[in-house]
Amino acid sequence: MDFVYRYTPEQEAFRSEVRSWLEEKVPEGMRRPLDAKHMDQELFEWNFEFRKELGSKGWLHPMYPQEFGGGGLTAEHNVVIQEELNRMEVPLPGHDNGFDLPALMVWGTDEQKREFLPPRLTGQKLGWQLFTEPGAGSDLASLKTRAIKDGDDWVITGEKVFVGGDVGYASEDTKVPDELQMGELFCLAVTDPNAPRHRNMGFFYVPGDAPGVTAQTLDLLIGQGKRQVYLDNVRVPSSRVIGGENQGWQVAQTSLEIEHGGAGVVAPRNRAIDFMLDWARNDGKSSGSHLQQVMMDAYIDSEILRLFQMRNFWMYAAHQEMTYQGSQASLWRKESGLRVADFLREAIGMESLVDVNDPKAIYGGEFEAHQRETLAAAHPGGTIEVQKVIVARRLGVSRTKERAAPTPSTAAAK
Ligand SMILES: Cc1cc2nc3c(=O)[nH]c(=O)nc-3n(C[C@H](O)[C@H](O)[C@H](O)COP(=O)(O)OP(=O)(O)OC[C@H]3O[C@@H](n4cnc5c(N)ncnc54)[C@H](O)[C@@H]3O)c2cc1C
Repeated sequence: MDFVYRYTPEQEAFRSEVRSWLEEKVPEGMRRPLDAKHMDQELFEWNFEFRKELGSKGWLHPMYPQEFGGGGLTAEHNVVIQEELNRMEVPLPGHDNGFDLPALMVWGTDEQKREFLPPRLTGQKLGWQLFTEPGAGSDLASLKTRAIKDGDDWVITGEKVFVGGDVGYASEDTKVPDELQMGELFCLAVTDPNAPRHRNMGFFYVPGDAPGVTAQTLDLLIGQGKRQVYLDNVRVPSSRVIGGENQGWQVAQTSLEIEHGGAGVVAPRNRAIDFMLDWARNDGKSSGSHLQQVMMDAYIDSEILRLFQMRNFWMYAAHQEMTYQGSQASLWRKESGLRVADFLREAIGMESLVDVNDPKAIYGGEFEAHQRETLAAAHPGGTIEVQKVIVARRLGVSRTKERAAPTPSTAAAK
């Protein structure tokens, strides 16, 4: 049996095409900032333009249908593209929160797909997720943002928190993001307060520049470009409701299924582990047996995550029916991230806590950013406890039994 993946000559030719295109487009020395707090406007704008160029080739969302602005390419092409983007360390190829796109594919009408998919799949617009509220995080169904029907429109009022793509910049004086960043906001809001839980909300696309939308940047442990967003009587036409006016919960489940890890990761990579191995090799530090134990714990932990993520990518691409696999990967990612941060502190010592602003920081402060990043990463898209609840329900060891939400992969297989 041979487990080594061998690329076909056609795939290798495609790799050469992608590589030479990237070498031409990505300026020498262009690096992503470790923390979105250090994202400046110039780099953001370069990246925005670069995403559009990727999009025009169909390489921003390679596996989406061409008719909607995707590449119409295979899983294998996608692997090659992601490997090459990784190799070049292209700064932030995907700083859009795109978890709505699969939901749109499953629940949107043809007209809605034609309206909302192309600008996002080609990088013309960014998307932000407006689910969480100050009083509704893990218990998302208790959200209070209200949508009231007025003629053919809905008028939405409420407050959302932790909103955004992965990066963004804001003026230091105002902490306000600009219109480039606030593209489409996909937002859950209560449409019928008298209806039962989970059948009382809609999934809306709110234009980021609609009157009544304001946003303020949050100063968090790590940047992530997160905002508090206020919706004050924001008027949205009914054509911007996806999946029926009381069906928002079901639509959001598809989005969350993907956010949890239901589509896997195309070419998973743990930069901190790469740096740790490099650090150990170059300094002869690998000779200490305790250090070796700690570093191999970190390596194996992250390798298990890589394999879960690749398995999910394969299952998704092969239209396999999933149950707990998405949340299993999410759970492992979150818990393993915290463990790996501990291992790295133990292996590398105090130097792992020196940040990018200090000239003595090793690897430009990568380890320090990883310490903060892994703490923050335990929360988005459902905390560790929430992921455990989902896995338990899907394994049938809970009073509530549940199935995985439909995704473009499983919906297409039917
Ligand atoms: C970096 C970052 C990015 C994010 N991005 C977005 C975004 O783009 N859009 C968006 O809408 N939201 C976003 N979020 C919000 C995220 O989804 C919420 O933080 C998360 O769902 C938890 O909600 P909460 O913060 O209100 O914590 P809470 O729900 O108050 O939970 C606090 C603690 O209690 C535990 N807990 C709560 N209920 C239970 C229970 N029933 N059983 C056991 N334990 C429980 C939780 O696990 C957690 O440890 C982001 C958050 C972070 C940190």
